Amino acid sequence: MNKWVYLFKEGSAEMKNLLGGKGSNLAEMTNLGLPIPQGFTVTTEACTDYYKSGKEITEEIQAQIFDSLKTLEEQQGKKFGDTENPLLVSVRSGARASMPGMMDTILNLGLNDISVEGFAKRTGNARFAYDSYRRFIQMFSDVVMEMSKTFFEGILTEAKDSKGVKFDTDLTADDLKAVIVRYKAIYKEKMGEEFPQEPTVQLMEAVKAVFRSWDNPRAIVYRRMNDIPGDWGTAVNVQAMVFGNMGNTSGTGVAFTRNPSTGEKGIYGEYLINAQGEDVVAGIRTPQPITKLAADMPKVFERFMEIANKLEAHYADMQDMEFTIEDETLYFLQTRNGKRTAPAALQIACDLVDEGKITPEEAVKRIDAKSLDQLLHPIFVPQALKDGKVLGQALPASPGAASGKVYFTADEAKKHNDDGERVILVRLETSPEDIEGMHAAEGILTVRGGMTSHAAVVARGMGTACVSGCGEIRIDEQAKVFELGGETISEGDYISLDGSTGKIYLGDISTEEAVIGGNFERIMGWADGYRTLKVRANADTPADAANAVKLGAQGIGLCRTEHMFFEPDRIPKIRRMILSTSQEAREEALNELIPFQKADFKGIYEVMEGRPVTIRFLDPPLHEFLPTDEKDIADLAADMGLSIEQIKDACTSLHEFNPMMGHRGCRLAVTYPEIARMQTRAVMEAAIEINDEKGFNIIPEIMIPLVCEKKELKYVKDIVVETAEKVKKEKNSDIKYMIGTMIEIPRAALLANEIAEEAEFFSFGTNDLTQMTFGFSRDDAGKFLDAYYKTKIFESDPFARLDQSGVGQLVEMAAKKGRSVRPNLKLGICGEHGGDPASVEFCHKIGLNYVSCSPFRVPIARLAAAQAALKENTSK
Ligand code: ADP
Ligand code: MG
Ligand code: MG
Repeated sequence: MNKWVYLFKEGSAEMKNLLGGKGSNLAEMTNLGLPIPQGFTVTTEACTDYYKSGKEITEEIQAQIFDSLKTLEEQQGKKFGDTENPLLVSVRSGARASMPGMMDTILNLGLNDISVEGFAKRTGNARFAYDSYRRFIQMFSDVVMEMSKTFFEGILTEAKDSKGVKFDTDLTADDLKAVIVRYKAIYKEKMGEEFPQEPTVQLMEAVKAVFRSWDNPRAIVYRRMNDIPGDWGTAVNVQAMVFGNMGNTSGTGVAFTRNPSTGEKGIYGEYLINAQGEDVVAGIRTPQPITKLAADMPKVFERFMEIANKLEAHYADMQDMEFTIEDETLYFLQTRNGKRTAPAALQIACDLVDEGKITPEEAVKRIDAKSLDQLLHPIFVPQALKDGKVLGQALPASPGAASGKVYFTADEAKKHNDDGERVILVRLETSPEDIEGMHAAEGILTVRGGMTSHAAVVARGMGTACVSGCGEIRIDEQAKVFELGGETISEGDYISLDGSTGKIYLGDISTEEAVIGGNFERIMGWADGYRTLKVRANADTPADAANAVKLGAQGIGLCRTEHMFFEPDRIPKIRRMILSTSQEAREEALNELIPFQKADFKGIYEVMEGRPVTIRFLDPPLHEFLPTDEKDIADLAADMGLSIEQIKDACTSLHEFNPMMGHRGCRLAVTYPEIARMQTRAVMEAAIEINDEKGFNIIPEIMIPLVCEKKELKYVKDIVVETAEKVKKEKNSDIKYMIGTMIEIPRAALLANEIAEEAEFFSFGTNDLTQMTFGFSRDDAGKFLDAYYKTKIFESDPFARLDQSGVGQLVEMAAKKGRSVRPNLKLGICGEHGGDPASVEFCHKIGLNYVSCSPFRVPIARLAAAQAALKENTSK
């Protein structure tokens, strides 16, 4: 027989997977001899079984629950359902990973119309007894029956109003009795039956409701955002009640052993006298700071501090604790490692190391790598944010807080920023042409596009806040207005964006810069000592490259060359190249671009000071460069000596139905070898000159994108080699260089052993590889992925988190096949996944040499790589 239920004294902290966080810690505290109301935990396996059994609790599990209940009755000397002296319990959720506020709790379970009278007599406190019953009805109706809370809150408010009092503590036993009558009436009206009086029915319904709450919509969203698998399930804790609502010598509170927003040492928290459960956070009465307990009940406070210190020492981490005082007797109801802001996490970890409580290794393991993002971007001033009105919420595409005036075109954004305004660029979606406006903007908001849309990728690279894919927006770009959340926002109006949460606010909310302190450097220093995986950055400009180096990048894994073509002095030349009909004309246009490209590369090489830089040759679909606006078309016509009609016709002839699968990547070099020649010359000349000037020993890494076949790579490689050798001869240089490829088409992964014969390195372009493996367009997937999450077909966005079982298999296989013919083949990834901790761990496991990600994610990747290495060591 399977064991589905554990008494607290049978469990321990190690049993977190089975008992959930709350249950295992209640067990641990019981074993430490702390004052814990006793109870038992129904396991997470029972939750999984509940779903397997068609949302039913099997008889075997029910029998074990009632057995444990019997033991609890004996321990407490009370009977469940007794009319004179009833045992009351709380029924509490508690998953493996804490999911605060996501699932539900029911208090005072076991009361009914008769036992409440016995309870009142027995305790000699009728007000307290009826208060407990009305709370129970309210919570049971909300959590188990899913009735709206507003019915009950309305009745309670009316009761207070008609007496002219402000707080529920001012209501007498008789007032509460009247409230209960009305509660039960509304229950009957809405549910079509009486409020359940049988305690065993109440209990089983409550347990089921907690199991069910694992799958409520907000829990599903929370899990997706926090990478918690859907099949873990929640445990249920059934615990004897203790009462903080017995009068002025009772109360309830929450406290942290250190400040969770700054990490500062010292007890931090609050409590309420004569209250129960959620009253502290409900905000009706203002709680007292925990330090005031020292004056109110010095003995209790002393005991409280003693236990808090003991818990922190035991777990060697900052604790988040819940407690209740029942008539001057202190009980602990929960402890867990407290959630904290990123600055607090670093402060606490460093302090604990200094206090000798944990090792640097442990400190590195504990920091949530993802949270480092918070440190590097501006945040809203907390006080200012309190008054902010949320207009809507969409994808948190690039972190940071931003506020400014709304503009609808890149040109307007740029212009107003030049005039000294802070601007927010609002677009249906962005395209490479918008790059300058994006640079000028504090934040970017798009109606379309997912986490790897153009806006998202570029914004992350620049460290600009971005909220993408806000389908609720009704935008009229012509009229320069949009509607969201019942407000109409016109050009020049202020909005604010939080790219970390995806929230969009009305008005100008002030922001403050993040400060990177010594704690950060200390932790990152430790992390670098443990990791074996290298971390590079995706950077296209000297400024991005410098930022990447500052954040610890060991090289550039992806330098996209196309961004260099969009600047106003260059785009006419590339347009002329594309629309030229002869090779000579194309070469002439390209030759004019060489000095620009060369200067760009020199600039990047210079700030990288000899670190490796992988330069990717031209990749995007050609049509992205073509002029769309009438003035650009006219300018180009004049420049090329053609008519406007001719230009328009030429553009039309280049139209593609599916440009992402069209004339792009190395196909450009196959059709126009002169592009590859020009780019090779620019790279080689830049490297040779900078090596001479600075005494570096740069070995250029030239990367050919979107290869699907060895012969294709060979064809382009031959062009590159020929030009490179020519440049070497001209410059009388013996510089070395490497030619590699991106693996981003499934066919290339399948034939990686052949391709490796020609390639000296592979870089997995996991954005395209994901797109092509799934057959999902990365720009459109946002439109239907939500339905996939709701139906639980997918648990996470494959563009943000590497799909290890599918796409990951291609990566792993290609890595093996590649190294089978070229054992020293250098391997890396350069998709957005390079900055996602779980994906970084995967890259470490399959033996890649490096990951490359946007500069602001470099610290995340460094820490995640260290954590992956440490995890591997412990499991060995
Ligand atoms: P959450 O996970 O949302 O914090 P909990 O299960 O911790 O939910 O319950 C919320 C609050 O209910 C606790 O902080 C505590 O104040 C109260 N509570 C839970 N169980 C009991 C109990 N057995 N006796 C008294 N109060 C309880
Ligand atoms: Mg709790
Ligand atoms: Mg690609």
